[in-house]
Order: sequence, then structure tokens, then C-alpha cells
Amino acid sequence: MTGLPTTMRAVRVEEWGARPVLAEVPVPMPVGDQVLLRVDAAGLCHSDLHIMDATPGALPYELPFTLGHEVVGTVAAAGDGVSGDELAALEGIPQAVHGLWTCGRCRQCRRGRENYCFGLTGAIGAGIGHDGGLAEYILVPSSRHVVPAGGIAPVAVAPLTDAGLTAFHALQPYDDVVRGGVVVIIGIGGLGHLALQLVTAGRPEAVVAVDPRPDARHVADRLGATVSVNRVEDVGPALADLGFPEGADLVLDFVGAHRTIAALPEVIAPGGQMAWVGSAGGSLEVAKGGDLPRGWGIRAPFWGTRNDLVEVVRLAREGLLRAETATFGLDEAVTAYEQLRNGQVQGRAVVVPAPGHP
Ligand code: NAD
Ligand code: ZN
Ligand code: ZN
Repeated sequence: MTGLPTTMRAVRVEEWGARPVLAEVPVPMPVGDQVLLRVDAAGLCHSDLHIMDATPGALPYELPFTLGHEVVGTVAAAGDGVSGDELAALEGIPQAVHGLWTCGRCRQCRRGRENYCFGLTGAIGAGIGHDGGLAEYILVPSSRHVVPAGGIAPVAVAPLTDAGLTAFHALQPYDDVVRGGVVVIIGIGGLGHLALQLVTAGRPEAVVAVDPRPDARHVADRLGATVSVNRVEDVGPALADLGFPEGADLVLDFVGAHRTIAALPEVIAPGGQMAWVGSAGGSLEVAKGGDLPRGWGIRAPFWGTRNDLVEVVRLAREGLLRAETATFGLDEAVTAYEQLRNGQVQGRAVVVPAPGHP
């Protein structure tokens, strides 16, 4: 533990409804099973904007805390509960942080569904109520929350820990729906551009991408969308033009606003499924025999499991999943969030706290 600085820079939520602040805070010292990582890269998620914009009392997190739930880092120190062998296996290899800091004991944790851990009632994990990785160092509760990510640039791994992982987990139940099916992806930002890669790898008949930003539609076209449209209202006509007037078999909504959710009945085919991932506050009343066609299904999946993250890292290592990134320094993080809010980020914005660090 020698050679560590005593303080570090960290991007903190200090007040609800305000911009985060770059602050000087103590470098935490690991105890017990904890592991301290020197942060190599940390992605900025649209959820961070939902968090910082929240009104007081809306979220069960205590202020202040450091943002950043898409984190890759290298072990800098460990508590005395971490064995020498365990430490040796981690050292020198960039580790992707599984940011859900679950109880490890409940029924969901015991059977590998820990993203639905019953213990996640307050703070959820890294950068979501607990101090995250938008800092020079991050304290991780134990080595069970990291996945080795050697062989891929940390900047490219960081977005996989949430954007890639959430997209992967959201798609998992739908292999058979995607294969030979018609898929609509709403929102081609951080999550959407990774989901699109996973969908096209699943051999669909057609994929319609929806995003009002021309740059995002460009990304979608480049990544294999059959057609890209501006608004959800254009999806029905686009599907009809493609020869699929019955609608789509799967809709992935990475926006989740009223207008995107409300378009669902117009867009899905009989038997059609929707994964509702975006958190923009939309709602939908559903009823059997209502507006939705026969056989509809709607899920609102949350993040992903550690096993899913292992799989996502493997896909990236095999060149099957690649995050497109724009990098920023820690002192540029607050500006980068504004760019994300203004739709000026292509793919994922990733902060590299210490450029030049191997
Ligand atoms: P992002 O800002 O990178 O991408 C959002 C994209 O949606 C942008 O390209 C934007 O132009 C586009 N968009 C905005 N309005 C649109 C509309 N009406 N129709 C079509 N496209 C539209 O955001 P992100 O980081 O990819 O996150 C997407 C959403 O997913 C956020 O709401 C975030 O909070 C949520 N999220 C959920 C989970 C989960 O586990 N459920 C995990 C991570 C993120
Ligand atoms: Zn996120
Ligand atoms: Zn649990």
C-alpha cells in the first residue's frame, strides 16, 4: 500500500438537481475483502443524468457520492482478507468492475440472478449511491465484483460493464425471437449501438434503428441496421416499405419516454416482445385483449449478472462487440456530461483519469 497518494480527484454528486462537481477527496484504504483499483477508464451513462437531475428524496442515496458505474481499473491495494494468491491473480491485469454491489446471500444472488438481489433497496453499487469510478481510484467491496479484462483497451472495456452488459442481458431471452425476426431498436446511443451489434450477430431478417440524431443514424447504418428512421412514428411505414406490414417481433427501447413507449401498439406484430430499458419516465397501460396484439410480452430488465459480464468481455475479446468511444480527462467529465445531455456524444463518452498510465 506504499506509494499511494492520500487524496485524489473525483466527480461527485453533491446536491440533487445540480451539476456534479470535481472535488479533492481522500483515497480510500481497503480493509477486509475490499480491493482498491486505480481507475484506467470510466464510462458516462445517461442514467448518471437521471441521477443528478433527481429531486431531493426521489432516490434512496445519501449525498455526496462519486459518479461512475462503468469502470475498469488495475489493483493498487487490497485488504488483509484478500489472500496472496487471489491478489497475485488480479495484479497487473485490468479488471472490469461488476458495479452491482449485491448481498451475495439472498435467493437471487445464490442462483446467479444477482442483478435482482433482494438486498438492493438503497444504494445499488459503484457510482449509484456508493462511490464510483469517476475518480483516480475506486474501492470495490470484494474481488467477486471484478472480471479480468486483459487484452482489450480499458477505454473499450468500460462501456461494456453497463451499456454492453445491460444490452446483452436485455437480449438474452430473445435469441429465437431475433433469429429470422424483425427487430426495432429505439435510441442508438451508448446502449443502443452495442445492442445493435448483438442483434445483427443474431441473424435477424431486418433491423430498424430509430434516433432523431443524424450522427446516431449514421452509426446505426454503419453497424448494420437495415434502415434508420428519425422518429418512432416512422417505424410503421418503414416496416411496411420493407415488406413487414405486420410489425416487429422485438422492440428494444433504450429511451423509454412517453412517446416511444406509446408507439408500441402501432409497432409490434402478434407475438411481439418488448424490452423496456430506457428510463425517460414513459408509461403504458396494458390489458389482455387491449391495444397490443395477441401474445405480447414486455420486460423491464435491469443491468446484468457477473456471468453476463464475463460473456460480454469474451465477445469483445473475440472482436464481436466493440464500443465506439470519445475520451475525456477527469477535469472534462462535467463538460462531457453536458455533451451527452445535448446529444453530442457518438457511442460512449469515457473518462481516462490518468492519461499515459499503462
Ligand atoms: P444515450 O444518451 O447514450 O443514448 C440515448 C439515445 O436515444 C441518443 O442517441 C438519443 O439521440 C436517442 N433518443 C432520444 N430521444 C429519442 C426518441 N424520442 N426516439 C429515438 N431515439 C431517441 O443514453 P444511454 O446511456 O444509452 O442510456 C439509454 C437509457 O437507458 C437511459 O434512459 C438510461 O438511464 C437507461 N439505462 C437503463 C439501464 C437498465 O438497466 N435498465 C442501464 C443503463 C442505462
Ligand atoms: Zn448506466
Ligand atoms: Zn442478494
